[in-house]
Amino acid sequence: MCGDLRSGRIVVVGASLAGLRAAETLRDEGFAGRLTVVGEERRPPYDRPPLSKQVLLGRVRAEETALPRRREVDADWRLGVRATGVDGAARQVLLATGERLPYDRLLIATGTRARPWPDPAQAALDGVFTLRTADDAAGLAERLAAGPRRVLVIGAGFTGSEIASACRERGVAVTVAERGPAPLVGALGGAFGAFAARVQRAHGVDLRCGVTVTALHGRDGRLTGAELSDGSRIEADVAVVALGAVRNTEWLADSGLAAGRRGIACDAGCRAFDMYGIVTDDVFVAGDVARFPHPLFEYQLLSLEHWGNAVAQAAVAAHNMVNPGPRRLPHLSVPAFWSSQFGLNIKSVGVPTFSDHVVVAQGSPEERRFVAVYGYRGRITAAVSVNRAKWLEHYQGLIETAAPFPPAWVGVEPPPSRTPVPSDVPDPKVLSHGPTVALTGHLPDRRLTFRRWDG
Ligand SMILES: Cc1cc2nc3c(=O)[nH]c(=O)nc-3n(C[C@H](O)[C@H](O)[C@H](O)COP(=O)(O)OP(=O)(O)OC[C@H]3O[C@@H](n4cnc5c(N)ncnc54)[C@H](O)[C@@H]3O)c2cc1C
Repeated sequence: MCGDLRSGRIVVVGASLAGLRAAETLRDEGFAGRLTVVGEERRPPYDRPPLSKQVLLGRVRAEETALPRRREVDADWRLGVRATGVDGAARQVLLATGERLPYDRLLIATGTRARPWPDPAQAALDGVFTLRTADDAAGLAERLAAGPRRVLVIGAGFTGSEIASACRERGVAVTVAERGPAPLVGALGGAFGAFAARVQRAHGVDLRCGVTVTALHGRDGRLTGAELSDGSRIEADVAVVALGAVRNTEWLADSGLAAGRRGIACDAGCRAFDMYGIVTDDVFVAGDVARFPHPLFEYQLLSLEHWGNAVAQAAVAAHNMVNPGPRRLPHLSVPAFWSSQFGLNIKSVGVPTFSDHVVVAQGSPEERRFVAVYGYRGRITAAVSVNRAKWLEHYQGLIETAAPFPPAWVGVEPPPSRTPVPSDVPDPKVLSHGPTVALTGHLPDRRLTFRRWDG
Protein backbone atom coordinates (compact mmCIF):
# COMPACT_ATOMS: atom_id res chain seq x y z
CA MET A 1 0.00 0.00 0.00
CA CYS A 2 2.75 2.39 1.06
CA GLY A 3 4.60 1.55 -2.13
CA ASP A 4 1.60 2.57 -4.23
CA LEU A 5 1.31 5.87 -2.43
CA ARG A 6 4.98 6.61 -3.01
CA SER A 7 4.59 6.40 -6.76
CA GLY A 8 2.08 7.87 -9.21
CA ARG A 9 1.38 11.54 -9.89
CA ILE A 10 1.07 14.32 -7.36
CA VAL A 11 0.14 17.90 -8.28
CA VAL A 12 0.62 20.79 -5.85
CA VAL A 13 -1.25 24.01 -6.69
CA GLY A 14 0.26 27.09 -5.01
CA ALA A 15 4.04 27.53 -5.13
CA SER A 16 4.63 29.56 -1.99
CA LEU A 17 5.45 28.62 1.61
CA ALA A 18 3.02 25.71 2.04
CA GLY A 19 3.50 24.41 -1.51
CA LEU A 20 7.29 24.42 -1.27
CA ARG A 21 7.44 22.82 2.17
CA ALA A 22 4.95 20.14 1.08
CA ALA A 23 7.00 19.36 -2.05
CA GLU A 24 10.13 19.01 0.08
CA THR A 25 8.38 16.72 2.57
CA LEU A 26 6.96 14.55 -0.22
CA ARG A 27 10.47 13.83 -1.46
CA ASP A 28 11.81 13.47 2.09
CA GLU A 29 9.19 10.83 2.73
CA GLY A 30 10.18 8.83 -0.28
CA PHE A 31 7.66 9.90 -2.91
CA ALA A 32 9.35 8.70 -6.09
CA GLY A 33 6.59 9.46 -8.58
CA ARG A 34 5.95 12.47 -10.77
CA LEU A 35 5.61 15.76 -8.89
CA THR A 36 4.30 18.95 -10.50
CA VAL A 37 4.09 22.30 -8.66
CA VAL A 38 1.85 24.93 -10.25
CA GLY A 39 2.18 28.57 -9.15
CA GLU A 40 0.59 31.71 -10.51
CA GLU A 41 3.52 33.92 -9.52
CA ARG A 42 6.57 33.89 -11.76
CA ARG A 43 9.03 34.17 -8.89
CA PRO A 44 10.30 31.04 -7.18
CA PRO A 45 8.80 30.69 -3.66
CA TYR A 46 9.64 33.61 -1.39
CA ASP A 47 8.93 34.68 2.15
CA ARG A 48 6.19 37.21 2.89
CA PRO A 49 6.81 38.34 6.51
CA PRO A 50 9.86 40.48 5.56
CA LEU A 51 7.77 42.34 2.96
CA SER A 52 6.04 44.51 5.56
CA LYS A 53 9.12 44.77 7.78
CA GLN A 54 12.74 44.70 6.51
CA VAL A 55 11.81 45.40 2.87
CA LEU A 56 9.83 48.57 3.70
CA LEU A 57 12.67 49.73 5.91
CA GLY A 58 15.06 49.38 2.98
CA ARG A 59 17.17 46.77 4.78
CA VAL A 60 16.39 43.91 2.41
CA ARG A 61 15.37 44.12 -1.23
CA ALA A 62 12.11 42.42 -2.20
CA GLU A 63 14.09 40.23 -4.64
CA GLU A 64 16.17 38.92 -1.75
CA THR A 65 13.36 37.20 0.12
CA ALA A 66 13.58 33.78 -1.57
CA LEU A 67 12.62 31.00 0.83
CA PRO A 68 15.60 28.89 1.85
CA ARG A 69 15.40 25.40 0.38
CA ARG A 70 15.59 22.50 2.82
CA ARG A 71 16.56 20.12 0.03
CA GLU A 72 16.60 19.81 -3.73
CA VAL A 73 13.13 18.99 -5.01
CA ASP A 74 12.84 16.96 -8.16
CA ALA A 75 9.66 18.49 -9.57
CA ASP A 76 8.22 20.05 -12.68
CA TRP A 77 7.82 23.69 -11.56
CA ARG A 78 5.07 25.36 -13.59
CA LEU A 79 5.56 28.95 -12.43
CA GLY A 80 3.59 31.83 -13.92
CA VAL A 81 0.71 29.45 -14.65
CA ARG A 82 -2.72 29.77 -13.06
CA ALA A 83 -4.85 26.76 -12.18
CA THR A 84 -8.44 27.43 -13.21
CA GLY A 85 -10.28 24.37 -11.94
CA VAL A 86 -10.28 20.81 -10.70
CA ASP A 87 -12.14 17.97 -12.38
CA GLY A 88 -12.44 15.59 -9.45
CA ALA A 89 -14.07 12.77 -11.40
CA ALA A 90 -11.34 12.74 -14.04
CA ARG A 91 -8.66 13.62 -11.43
CA GLN A 92 -7.30 16.51 -13.45
CA VAL A 93 -6.21 20.06 -12.66
CA LEU A 94 -7.23 22.56 -15.35
CA LEU A 95 -4.68 25.23 -16.24
CA ALA A 96 -5.16 28.67 -17.78
CA THR A 97 -3.04 27.44 -20.70
CA GLY A 98 -5.83 24.99 -21.57
CA GLU A 99 -3.80 21.99 -20.39
CA ARG A 100 -5.15 19.33 -18.06
CA LEU A 101 -2.76 17.90 -15.50
CA PRO A 102 -3.68 14.40 -14.35
CA TYR A 103 -3.11 13.57 -10.68
CA ASP A 104 -3.49 10.64 -8.28
CA ARG A 105 -3.29 13.00 -5.31
CA LEU A 106 -3.64 16.76 -5.27
CA LEU A 107 -2.51 19.34 -2.70
CA ILE A 108 -4.18 22.75 -2.74
CA ALA A 109 -2.06 25.52 -1.18
CA THR A 110 -3.35 28.63 -2.94
CA GLY A 111 -3.28 30.86 0.14
CA THR A 112 -4.80 34.32 0.13
CA ARG A 113 -4.50 37.63 -1.71
CA ALA A 114 -4.88 41.19 -0.48
CA ARG A 115 -8.47 42.45 -0.33
CA PRO A 116 -8.54 45.14 -3.02
CA TRP A 117 -9.92 48.67 -2.65
CA PRO A 118 -13.58 48.34 -3.72
CA ASP A 119 -13.53 51.12 -6.34
CA PRO A 120 -11.34 49.96 -9.27
CA ALA A 121 -10.85 53.49 -10.66
CA GLN A 122 -9.68 54.80 -7.28
CA ALA A 123 -7.54 51.68 -6.76
CA ALA A 124 -5.81 52.38 -10.07
CA LEU A 125 -4.58 55.83 -8.97
CA ASP A 126 -0.82 56.12 -8.91
CA GLY A 127 0.21 55.91 -5.24
CA VAL A 128 -2.42 53.37 -4.14
CA PHE A 129 -0.96 50.05 -2.99
CA THR A 130 -1.87 46.73 -1.43
CA LEU A 131 0.81 44.52 0.15
CA ARG A 132 0.88 40.78 -0.47
CA THR A 133 3.50 40.06 -3.11
CA ALA A 134 7.18 40.85 -3.54
CA ASP A 135 6.27 43.19 -6.40
CA ASP A 136 3.84 45.06 -4.14
CA ALA A 137 6.57 45.43 -1.52
CA ALA A 138 9.18 46.56 -4.04
CA GLY A 139 6.86 49.28 -5.35
CA LEU A 140 5.87 50.51 -1.90
CA ALA A 141 9.44 50.45 -0.59
CA GLU A 142 10.51 52.61 -3.53
CA ARG A 143 7.78 55.17 -2.72
CA LEU A 144 8.71 55.27 0.95
CA ALA A 145 12.37 55.77 0.07
CA ALA A 146 11.40 58.72 -2.15
CA GLY A 147 10.00 60.51 0.93
CA PRO A 148 6.27 60.98 0.43
CA ARG A 149 4.59 63.88 2.23
CA ARG A 150 2.09 61.61 3.97
CA VAL A 151 1.11 57.95 3.78
CA LEU A 152 -2.46 56.89 4.51
CA VAL A 153 -2.80 53.34 5.81
CA ILE A 154 -6.33 51.99 5.52
CA GLY A 155 -6.85 49.30 8.15
CA ALA A 156 -4.90 48.73 11.37
CA GLY A 157 -4.55 44.97 11.49
CA PHE A 158 -1.08 43.44 11.64
CA THR A 159 -0.08 44.36 8.09
CA GLY A 160 -1.41 47.94 8.33
CA SER A 161 0.25 48.45 11.71
CA GLU A 162 3.59 47.11 10.47
CA ILE A 163 3.43 49.43 7.46
CA ALA A 164 2.68 52.40 9.73
CA SER A 165 5.60 51.39 11.94
CA ALA A 166 7.96 51.25 8.94
CA CYS A 167 6.78 54.72 7.87
CA ARG A 168 7.50 56.20 11.28
CA GLU A 169 10.89 54.51 11.44
CA ARG A 170 11.70 56.14 8.11
CA GLY A 171 10.50 59.52 9.39
CA VAL A 172 7.49 59.56 7.06
CA ALA A 173 4.23 61.16 8.27
CA VAL A 174 1.46 58.56 8.45
CA THR A 175 -2.28 58.55 9.09
CA VAL A 176 -3.92 55.25 9.97
CA ALA A 177 -7.68 54.94 9.47
CA GLU A 178 -9.34 52.02 11.25
CA ARG A 179 -13.02 51.10 11.29
CA GLY A 180 -12.76 49.36 14.69
CA PRO A 181 -12.13 51.02 18.04
CA ALA A 182 -8.33 50.42 18.00
CA PRO A 183 -5.53 48.72 16.07
CA LEU A 184 -5.20 44.89 16.16
CA VAL A 185 -8.68 44.43 17.65
CA GLY A 186 -9.65 41.81 15.07
CA ALA A 187 -6.79 39.51 16.09
CA LEU A 188 -6.12 40.37 19.74
CA GLY A 189 -9.30 42.00 21.08
CA GLY A 190 -10.15 45.44 22.42
CA ALA A 191 -8.15 45.28 25.65
CA PHE A 192 -4.91 44.69 23.74
CA GLY A 193 -6.03 47.13 21.04
CA ALA A 194 -6.16 49.99 23.56
CA PHE A 195 -2.49 49.33 24.35
CA ALA A 196 -1.62 49.20 20.63
CA ALA A 197 -3.37 52.56 20.08
CA ARG A 198 -1.28 54.21 22.82
CA VAL A 199 1.90 52.82 21.29
CA GLN A 200 1.04 54.04 17.79
CA ARG A 201 0.20 57.54 18.99
CA ALA A 202 3.36 57.69 21.09
CA HIS A 203 5.29 56.98 17.87
CA GLY A 204 3.65 59.91 16.12
CA VAL A 205 1.01 58.03 14.11
CA ASP A 206 -2.06 60.12 13.32
CA LEU A 207 -4.43 57.31 14.34
CA ARG A 208 -8.11 57.72 13.47
CA CYS A 209 -10.33 54.94 14.86
CA GLY A 210 -14.04 54.35 14.40
CA VAL A 211 -13.87 55.78 10.88
CA THR A 212 -13.82 54.38 7.38
CA VAL A 213 -12.27 55.81 4.26
CA THR A 214 -15.15 56.60 1.94
CA ALA A 215 -13.25 57.75 -1.16
CA LEU A 216 -9.75 58.18 -2.54
CA HIS A 217 -9.15 61.30 -4.61
CA GLY A 218 -6.67 61.98 -7.35
CA ARG A 219 -5.53 64.50 -9.93
CA ASP A 220 -4.02 63.55 -13.30
CA GLY A 221 -4.13 59.91 -12.29
CA ARG A 222 -2.19 60.47 -9.06
CA LEU A 223 -3.50 60.06 -5.54
CA THR A 224 -3.94 63.34 -3.71
CA GLY A 225 -5.90 62.33 -0.64
CA ALA A 226 -8.91 60.66 0.90
CA GLU A 227 -12.22 61.38 2.52
CA LEU A 228 -13.22 59.80 5.83
CA SER A 229 -16.67 58.86 7.11
CA ASP A 230 -16.49 61.57 9.80
CA GLY A 231 -16.29 64.19 7.04
CA SER A 232 -12.58 64.89 7.44
CA ARG A 233 -10.11 64.87 4.54
CA ILE A 234 -6.54 63.62 4.51
CA GLU A 235 -3.93 64.81 2.06
CA ALA A 236 -1.68 61.92 1.11
CA ASP A 237 0.42 60.94 -1.89
CA VAL A 238 0.56 57.25 -0.91
CA ALA A 239 -2.27 55.07 0.39
CA VAL A 240 -1.91 51.46 1.42
CA VAL A 241 -5.07 49.40 1.45
CA ALA A 242 -4.60 46.91 4.32
CA LEU A 243 -8.11 45.52 4.61
CA GLY A 244 -7.20 41.91 5.20
CA ALA A 245 -6.98 38.89 2.95
CA VAL A 246 -9.27 37.07 0.55
CA ARG A 247 -8.85 33.30 0.25
CA ASN A 248 -7.96 32.06 -3.22
CA THR A 249 -10.82 29.61 -3.69
CA GLU A 250 -12.85 31.02 -6.60
CA TRP A 251 -11.03 28.79 -9.07
CA LEU A 252 -12.57 25.81 -7.24
CA ALA A 253 -16.18 26.95 -7.68
CA ASP A 254 -17.08 23.98 -9.92
CA SER A 255 -14.80 21.46 -8.24
CA GLY A 256 -17.38 19.95 -5.89
CA LEU A 257 -15.05 20.71 -2.96
CA ALA A 258 -16.12 22.51 0.24
CA ALA A 259 -14.41 25.69 -0.92
CA GLY A 260 -15.78 29.12 -0.09
CA ARG A 261 -14.94 32.53 1.23
CA ARG A 262 -13.60 31.18 4.51
CA GLY A 263 -11.30 28.68 2.78
CA ILE A 264 -11.39 24.99 1.94
CA ALA A 265 -12.70 22.81 4.76
CA CYS A 266 -10.60 19.77 5.58
CA ASP A 267 -10.23 17.21 8.34
CA ALA A 268 -7.42 17.15 10.90
CA GLY A 269 -5.44 15.02 8.45
CA CYS A 270 -5.64 17.83 5.83
CA ARG A 271 -8.01 15.90 3.53
CA ALA A 272 -10.46 18.24 1.81
CA PHE A 273 -14.20 17.82 2.32
CA ASP A 274 -16.44 17.75 -0.69
CA MET A 275 -19.44 20.06 -0.89
CA TYR A 276 -21.59 17.55 1.01
CA GLY A 277 -19.11 17.33 3.89
CA ILE A 278 -17.78 13.92 2.81
CA VAL A 279 -14.05 13.67 3.21
CA THR A 280 -12.03 13.02 0.04
CA ASP A 281 -8.98 10.84 0.12
CA ASP A 282 -7.10 12.24 -2.84
CA VAL A 283 -7.37 16.02 -2.34
CA PHE A 284 -5.41 17.64 0.49
CA VAL A 285 -5.20 21.24 1.71
CA ALA A 286 -2.55 23.24 3.58
CA GLY A 287 -1.68 26.80 4.59
CA ASP A 288 -3.74 29.99 4.62
CA VAL A 289 -6.40 28.55 2.30
CA ALA A 290 -7.27 25.69 4.67
CA ARG A 291 -10.01 25.53 7.33
CA PHE A 292 -9.36 22.74 9.74
CA PRO A 293 -10.80 21.49 13.03
CA HIS A 294 -8.77 21.78 16.21
CA PRO A 295 -9.75 19.89 19.36
CA LEU A 296 -8.28 22.58 21.65
CA PHE A 297 -10.73 25.07 20.21
CA GLU A 298 -13.86 22.94 20.37
CA TYR A 299 -13.24 21.53 16.90
CA GLN A 300 -14.11 24.84 15.35
CA LEU A 301 -12.86 25.10 11.82
CA LEU A 302 -9.91 27.46 12.08
CA SER A 303 -8.77 29.58 9.17
CA LEU A 304 -5.32 30.95 10.01
CA GLU A 305 -2.94 33.34 8.32
CA HIS A 306 0.14 32.23 10.17
CA TRP A 307 3.51 31.39 8.68
CA GLY A 308 4.12 28.59 11.20
CA ASN A 309 0.78 26.98 10.43
CA ALA A 310 1.54 26.88 6.69
CA VAL A 311 4.83 25.08 7.42
CA ALA A 312 3.39 22.59 9.93
CA GLN A 313 0.22 21.84 7.98
CA ALA A 314 2.12 21.35 4.71
CA ALA A 315 4.36 18.77 6.40
CA VAL A 316 1.38 16.86 7.79
CA ALA A 317 -0.52 17.01 4.50
CA ALA A 318 2.49 15.74 2.54
CA HIS A 319 3.11 12.96 5.03
CA ASN A 320 -0.51 11.85 4.81
CA MET A 321 -0.44 11.93 1.01
CA VAL A 322 2.18 9.21 0.93
CA ASN A 323 1.15 7.13 3.95
CA PRO A 324 -1.82 4.82 4.42
CA GLY A 325 -4.58 5.40 7.00
CA PRO A 326 -3.02 3.96 10.18
CA ARG A 327 0.19 5.90 9.65
CA ARG A 328 -1.45 9.23 9.07
CA LEU A 329 -0.91 12.14 11.43
CA PRO A 330 -3.29 14.84 12.65
CA HIS A 331 -2.42 18.51 12.28
CA LEU A 332 -2.67 19.47 15.94
CA SER A 333 0.01 22.10 16.48
CA VAL A 334 -1.03 25.08 18.56
CA PRO A 335 -1.43 28.16 16.31
CA ALA A 336 1.39 30.68 16.73
CA PHE A 337 2.48 33.89 15.02
CA TRP A 338 4.69 36.90 15.51
CA SER A 339 4.85 40.53 14.49
CA SER A 340 7.37 43.30 14.95
CA GLN A 341 6.21 46.91 15.02
CA PHE A 342 7.01 50.14 16.87
CA GLY A 343 9.91 48.47 18.67
CA LEU A 344 7.66 45.71 19.97
CA ASN A 345 8.28 42.04 19.44
CA ILE A 346 4.76 40.59 19.61
CA LYS A 347 4.34 36.82 19.75
CA SER A 348 1.18 34.81 20.14
CA VAL A 349 0.30 31.19 20.88
CA GLY A 350 -3.20 29.76 20.85
CA VAL A 351 -6.20 31.62 19.47
CA PRO A 352 -6.68 34.99 21.22
CA THR A 353 -10.06 35.51 19.58
CA PHE A 354 -11.25 32.28 21.22
CA SER A 355 -11.58 34.02 24.58
CA ASP A 356 -13.88 35.91 26.87
CA HIS A 357 -11.31 37.41 29.27
CA VAL A 358 -7.68 38.46 29.28
CA VAL A 359 -5.26 39.19 32.11
CA VAL A 360 -1.77 40.67 32.22
CA ALA A 361 -0.02 37.69 33.78
CA GLN A 362 3.53 39.06 33.76
CA GLY A 363 5.18 42.45 33.36
CA SER A 364 3.21 45.57 32.54
CA PRO A 365 1.99 47.33 29.40
CA GLU A 366 3.45 50.60 30.76
CA GLU A 367 6.93 49.05 30.56
CA ARG A 368 6.01 47.61 27.14
CA ARG A 369 7.12 44.23 28.40
CA PHE A 370 4.38 41.84 29.36
CA VAL A 371 2.46 38.64 28.72
CA ALA A 372 -1.31 38.81 28.26
CA VAL A 373 -3.07 35.50 28.85
CA TYR A 374 -6.49 34.84 27.33
CA GLY A 375 -9.15 32.54 28.75
CA TYR A 376 -12.42 31.08 27.61
CA ARG A 377 -14.92 29.75 30.13
CA GLY A 378 -12.26 29.33 32.78
CA ARG A 379 -9.46 27.73 30.76
CA ILE A 380 -6.42 29.20 29.05
CA THR A 381 -6.73 29.45 25.28
CA ALA A 382 -4.00 31.90 24.21
CA ALA A 383 -1.07 34.02 25.35
CA VAL A 384 0.46 37.07 23.71
CA SER A 385 3.88 38.33 24.74
CA VAL A 386 5.26 41.79 24.10
CA ASN A 387 9.05 41.90 24.32
CA ARG A 388 8.89 38.86 26.60
CA ALA A 389 8.81 35.85 24.31
CA LYS A 390 10.79 33.47 26.49
CA TRP A 391 7.70 32.69 28.56
CA LEU A 392 5.51 31.62 25.66
CA GLU A 393 6.54 27.99 25.76
CA HIS A 394 5.31 27.82 29.34
CA TYR A 395 1.93 29.19 28.32
CA GLN A 396 1.77 26.92 25.31
CA GLY A 397 1.95 24.00 27.73
CA LEU A 398 -0.92 25.50 29.72
CA ILE A 399 -3.00 25.92 26.54
CA GLU A 400 -2.31 22.33 25.47
CA THR A 401 -3.44 20.99 28.85
CA ALA A 402 -6.47 23.33 29.09
CA ALA A 403 -5.11 24.75 32.37
CA PRO A 404 -7.45 26.92 34.44
CA PHE A 405 -7.80 30.62 33.71
CA PRO A 406 -6.61 32.94 35.18
CA PRO A 407 -3.19 31.29 35.33
CA ALA A 408 -1.19 30.79 38.51
CA TRP A 409 1.35 33.59 38.97
CA VAL A 410 4.80 32.65 37.58
CA GLY A 411 6.78 35.89 37.39
CA VAL A 412 9.57 37.22 39.53
CA GLU A 413 7.50 40.20 40.60
CA PRO A 414 3.73 40.21 40.81
CA PRO A 415 2.15 42.46 38.19
CA PRO A 416 0.27 45.51 39.51
CA SER A 417 -3.14 44.08 38.72
CA ARG A 418 -4.15 40.53 38.03
CA THR A 419 -7.83 41.11 37.54
CA PRO A 420 -9.04 39.63 34.25
CA VAL A 421 -10.93 42.04 32.03
CA PRO A 422 -13.17 41.21 29.06
CA SER A 423 -10.94 40.47 26.09
CA ASP A 424 -13.47 42.25 23.92
CA VAL A 425 -12.89 40.16 20.80
CA PRO A 426 -15.07 40.76 17.75
CA ASP A 427 -18.05 38.59 16.97
CA PRO A 428 -16.54 35.47 15.34
CA LYS A 429 -19.47 35.34 12.94
CA VAL A 430 -18.13 38.48 11.26
CA LEU A 431 -16.31 37.11 8.25
CA SER A 432 -13.24 39.29 8.46
CA HIS A 433 -12.38 38.17 11.97
CA GLY A 434 -10.23 35.09 12.34
CA PRO A 435 -11.45 31.70 13.49
CA THR A 436 -14.83 30.46 12.40
CA VAL A 437 -17.23 28.66 14.72
CA ALA A 438 -18.66 25.16 14.58
CA LEU A 439 -19.20 23.82 18.11
CA THR A 440 -19.18 20.06 18.54
CA GLY A 441 -19.39 19.58 22.30
CA HIS A 442 -15.93 18.06 22.64
CA LEU A 443 -14.55 18.16 26.22
CA PRO A 444 -11.47 20.32 25.84
CA ASP A 445 -9.88 19.38 29.19
CA ARG A 446 -8.54 16.09 27.87
CA ARG A 447 -5.12 16.26 26.34
CA LEU A 448 -5.04 14.40 23.07
CA THR A 449 -2.26 11.96 22.34
CA PHE A 450 -1.44 10.43 19.01
CA ARG A 451 0.92 7.80 17.76
CA ARG A 452 4.06 8.69 15.90
CA TRP A 453 5.45 6.36 13.27
CA ASP A 454 9.04 6.19 12.28
CA GLY A 455 8.70 4.08 9.16
C1 LIG B 1 3.12 41.33 4.23
C2 LIG B 1 2.92 40.08 5.02
C3 LIG B 1 3.51 39.92 6.27
C4 LIG B 1 3.32 38.77 7.02
N1 LIG B 1 3.91 38.68 8.25
C5 LIG B 1 3.70 37.58 9.01
C6 LIG B 1 4.28 37.47 10.30
O1 LIG B 1 4.97 38.38 10.78
N2 LIG B 1 4.04 36.34 11.03
C7 LIG B 1 3.26 35.31 10.55
O2 LIG B 1 3.06 34.31 11.25
N3 LIG B 1 2.72 35.37 9.30
C8 LIG B 1 2.92 36.49 8.54
N4 LIG B 1 2.36 36.56 7.28
C9 LIG B 1 1.52 35.46 6.80
C10 LIG B 1 2.32 34.38 6.06
O3 LIG B 1 3.17 34.93 5.12
C11 LIG B 1 1.33 33.40 5.44
O4 LIG B 1 0.72 32.70 6.49
C12 LIG B 1 1.98 32.44 4.45
O5 LIG B 1 2.49 33.13 3.33
C13 LIG B 1 0.97 31.40 3.98
O6 LIG B 1 1.55 30.59 3.01
P1 LIG B 1 0.67 29.80 1.92
O7 LIG B 1 1.67 29.05 1.11
O8 LIG B 1 -0.41 29.07 2.59
O9 LIG B 1 -0.06 30.92 1.05
P2 LIG B 1 0.51 32.13 0.18
O10 LIG B 1 1.81 32.60 0.71
O11 LIG B 1 -0.61 33.09 0.07
O12 LIG B 1 0.78 31.47 -1.26
C14 LIG B 1 -0.22 31.01 -2.10
C15 LIG B 1 0.35 30.95 -3.51
O13 LIG B 1 -0.60 30.33 -4.35
C16 LIG B 1 -0.66 31.05 -5.58
N5 LIG B 1 -1.96 30.83 -6.21
C17 LIG B 1 -3.16 31.31 -5.79
N6 LIG B 1 -4.15 30.89 -6.62
C18 LIG B 1 -3.55 30.13 -7.57
C19 LIG B 1 -4.04 29.42 -8.68
N7 LIG B 1 -5.35 29.38 -8.98
N8 LIG B 1 -3.15 28.76 -9.47
C20 LIG B 1 -1.83 28.78 -9.18
N9 LIG B 1 -1.31 29.43 -8.10
C21 LIG B 1 -2.17 30.11 -7.31
C22 LIG B 1 -0.44 32.48 -5.16
O14 LIG B 1 -0.03 33.28 -6.26
C23 LIG B 1 0.64 32.32 -4.09
O15 LIG B 1 1.92 32.36 -4.65
C24 LIG B 1 2.53 37.72 6.50
C25 LIG B 1 1.93 37.85 5.23
C26 LIG B 1 2.12 39.02 4.50
C27 LIG B 1 1.47 39.16 3.14
